[in-house]
Amino acid sequence: MKRVLVTGAAGQIGTELVPALRTQYPDAVVAASDIRAGDPILEEGGPFVTLDVTRPQAVARCVAEHGVDAIFHLAAILSATAEDDPQAAYHVNMDGLHNVLEAARASGCSVFVPSSIAAFGPGTPTEAPQDTIQRPNTIYGVTKVAGELLCDYYHHKYGVDVRGVRYPGLISYMAPPGGGTTDYAVDIFYHAIRDGEYTCFLEADTQLDMMYMPDALRAAIELMETDAGGLRHRNAFNVAAMQLTPEHLAEEIRKHVPGFQIHYDVDPKRQAIAESWPRRVDDSAAREEWGWQPEFGLEAMVEDMLARLGERLGAAAASS
Ligand code: NAD
Repeated sequence: MKRVLVTGAAGQIGTELVPALRTQYPDAVVAASDIRAGDPILEEGGPFVTLDVTRPQAVARCVAEHGVDAIFHLAAILSATAEDDPQAAYHVNMDGLHNVLEAARASGCSVFVPSSIAAFGPGTPTEAPQDTIQRPNTIYGVTKVAGELLCDYYHHKYGVDVRGVRYPGLISYMAPPGGGTTDYAVDIFYHAIRDGEYTCFLEADTQLDMMYMPDALRAAIELMETDAGGLRHRNAFNVAAMQLTPEHLAEEIRKHVPGFQIHYDVDPKRQAIAESWPRRVDDSAAREEWGWQPEFGLEAMVEDMLARLGERLGAAAASS
């Protein structure tokens, strides 16, 4: 990877993936792009360009002008936001992906495309195998399954080197999450530090797969680096790190923030979405085919998250 383009770079993943790529590949040009401005860090150590992925010519031009050889395609509308405007979600998630794959086909570059545990549905077994029934009932999930298939198609039909993982809910401290159903697992840390209490929009025992951002970034980079010869699946690898319920997460936070309280005010829309997803995924294909191994479990994640977010919020308060 010598000339990399990250779409949707101002979001939760891109804000950390762009600096991680610039650190890992100091001789490469890593261009960050989005339809909106993001954290100033995106403009350090490489270009930031405004790019709307729903505009096919703009995407093709950007890839050609920058001589891009790898795209990390992160631009998307996430689960809860997508349900409020399914047409916009379809446009960004499907047409945007199609435009990126077309640009990759024309220029011969490789592509990383994240799918999600939302690509499963109520008919999927509660521990989701790598290859299983995928009949999601959310527009986000529909676009994720269709996206997985489109990526496979571009590989088989045109030889585009496109790879991807199904991310679980991601926990991070740099950028706020973008309207997903697992956002509670990030919000809870802000409220624990600032207020000592949090009102959760999911029920106490709703179990979902989650992952700490450093593991998510490593998954993307390691999958793109691996020798393609060992890949049987290529796209949409299940990857897992920990299974959380709001109750267990609150219990672990309480070990560091004594007296921390969690209350519940359940949002029926997000609860229904969460209940349509598996309680955990089986990631043995990723482990076998490219050596996937998470580093952070619940205890290490909570300790690191509280320390780093605490520093960040403290620094922000001191400078205001
Ligand atoms: P996010 O919502 O934080 O960021 C998405 C970015 O896309 C935003 O900065 C937004 O401005 C941008 N965007 C929206 N429309 C655009 C357009 N037309 N053109 C260009 N940019 C546009 O999302 P994220 O959490 O960073 O997720 C990135 C990818 O990872 C998505 O495909 C998402 O489905 C997937 N994913 C994320 C999670 C998670 O928990 N964060 C879990 C599973 C999968």
